[in-house]
Amino acid sequence: VLINIRRFREINHSYGHRAGDAMLKEIARRLVAWKSEDAKVARLGGANFGLILPDAAGVRGVSQQIEALLRELRQPLLVENGIELMVDATAGIALCPEHGRNVGDLLRFADSAVAAARSEGSHGYRFYEAGFTDAVHTRLSHEARLRRAIDNGDIDVHFQPQVDVRSGVVIGAEALARWHDAELGPVAPDRFIGLAEESGLILPLGEVVLAKACRLWSELIVPFCGPLSLAVNVSAAHFAHPALTGLVTQILSAAGLAADRLELEITETAVMSQQETALATMHRLREAGIQLALDDFGTGHSSLAYLRHFPLDKLKIDRQFVRHVPENPDDRAIVRAIVQLGHALGFTVLAEGVERTEQLAFLAAEQCDAYQGWLFAKAMTAQELQQLLLETRNALVQHVAFGQSTGEPLRS
Ligand code: C2E
Ligand code: CA
Ligand code: CA
Repeated sequence: VLINIRRFREINHSYGHRAGDAMLKEIARRLVAWKSEDAKVARLGGANFGLILPDAAGVRGVSQQIEALLRELRQPLLVENGIELMVDATAGIALCPEHGRNVGDLLRFADSAVAAARSEGSHGYRFYEAGFTDAVHTRLSHEARLRRAIDNGDIDVHFQPQVDVRSGVVIGAEALARWHDAELGPVAPDRFIGLAEESGLILPLGEVVLAKACRLWSELIVPFCGPLSLAVNVSAAHFAHPALTGLVTQILSAAGLAADRLELEITETAVMSQQETALATMHRLREAGIQLALDDFGTGHSSLAYLRHFPLDKLKIDRQFVRHVPENPDDRAIVRAIVQLGHALGFTVLAEGVERTEQLAFLAAEQCDAYQGWLFAKAMTAQELQQLLLETRNALVQHVAFGQSTGEPLRS
């Protein structure tokens, strides 16, 4: 049996190696305490542990044993300074003699079973099945390709306009990462962001996206289209990173972009899983002049007690609540409540995923401040956004100019 502790690298990054070491020791202690006398346990490197269960009684017996073990391992764990860490353990199992008869094969098969368990994340363990090793190869090769794309600057950034509900004017845009691999074709962010989080690539990826987005914004948007705000997603790992504020201000000054043009989107889960440190980070970012939006609001476990203390500028209503308004009365009630809650706490509220005019009309009636979605535009390149902004501005200028007496369009 191979046991892998997920996100160990992130814990090392975010809380330091002492916390990581304390975690490994505690896991080792739990494994030793749990095992029977005949069983053997070892740390195999990183956050991987190996178990030999000589007295295992078939698939059913092993399943029960491993379920009990994972329950034990997943108890939250307290390291120094009162930091509580969640332990996310997964297990891969290979049987002797059914799957293999030598240590090398069994370890390799258990390893691919761990990878399978990790990628689905359901029960937290899997038995080896033929074909798993191919899947592991695929994952490793995708990971290597993503790493190369990040190193070579092949990750693109597209921008989805954010629009003022009342005036219909574009007020900013959200930067979204795009990866087009020569062999794999376009890979959806939902897939490669997950892969990046699993493999620790999320920190370099986040940095590359932020730097590129800021540079494009200051070169192509600000000089031509005025001071619109740029929203960039920040992963939980980055948000927990002590050097985040320094990194962001450095990137801003390298790009020549004013801090108050930048808005960072952080998710509810990133904030709520580390409330005290999150609060300090948010204050530091705000002091640097950066705006903050809470992304996917309503999908995590927000504590309202904390929410009112958070120095936020904006709440973003998750797409899932917007999808069925105005038809669905429950969703109507939820959207209405979020808008009112946001306003009561002094935040602006933006609705995501607006695809239909009826949705927009409902949001306008509820006094939601802003929206983004395919109804207005999908994410586009910086050049396309510049074009769109210049066209709408010209249309606006002409509209105003014709409305005045001369009938001559203004040239400015
Ligand atoms: P998100 O932050 O909630 O981003 C909004 C997603 O909704 C984007 O998907 C966008 O294309 C999609 N979307 C926008 N309008 C509509 C609409 O009207 N209808 C529908 N059905 N979808 C709409 P995308 O680009 O596939 O990104 C998915 C997720 O990947 C993002 O969700 C975000 O969590 C993550 N992501 C993307 N880029 C980055 C990045 O640079 N850094 C980090 N950390 N995460 C990113
Ligand atoms: Ca977002
Ligand atoms: Ca979102």
